Amino acid sequence: MNDTKSLTRNRMHIFSDFDGTITELDTLVFMSKTLGGGPQMVEAIGRLIREGRITLRDGIAAEMRSIRASWDDAVALLREHVRIDAAFPPFAAWCRDEKIPLTILSAGFRNVIELFLAHDDYRHVDIRANRLIPDTGSGWQCRFRDRTEFGHDKAAAIREAQRRGQYAVFIGDGLSDRAPAEVADEVFAKHSLAEYCASKGILCHEYTTFSDVHAELQLRLTAGKTL
Ligand SMILES: [Mg+2]
Repeated sequence: MNDTKSLTRNRMHIFSDFDGTITELDTLVFMSKTLGGGPQMVEAIGRLIREGRITLRDGIAAEMRSIRASWDDAVALLREHVRIDAAFPPFAAWCRDEKIPLTILSAGFRNVIELFLAHDDYRHVDIRANRLIPDTGSGWQCRFRDRTEFGHDKAAAIREAQRRGQYAVFIGDGLSDRAPAEVADEVFAKHSLAEYCASKGILCHEYTTFSDVHAELQLRLTAGKTL
């Protein structure tokens, strides 16, 4: 973290993960378990990723390939079972009102994110994610944003903002959030990302919901506090 710059609305850019951070459930895990290869496959692929034997990108591709359901069936299930953090809508509205850029950086899929954030309340939110091509014949296909091991280099977006002189705040929870947490000026972390930050000596705020993030950033902006 940079401890010499003052925190102002004009310089802040907020980046957030989506699955497990804005949503309560991880939509990729949920779809793989309910529509694809099931819990055992998800566990097996997760183990291979954790052991470094396959990349997250290849693991996600394999999980999606195991799904042959129609997109409409998936949408019905997602809408029924996945909720976004109740504190996220007011947080997003606060960013809009304060003119603080809010970018979602996801190793998941734009098609899914737009199910939850497509309406007018989120017109100001920049969504960067991979694309899913549902295929009931040969299994769902992924179109990744880049060739990195995560399929989407989230840290690159943070570095780009910092090159423009912005103060990058990152909010996340999981594996694909490690690289951006390492470069962000300030990190909010929960679950395995909080454990990772602790193990690497990366200073972070541990949060439970967006109300924690909102309260912390709002307080400091209001006070004009120097970081
Ligand atoms: Mg996540």
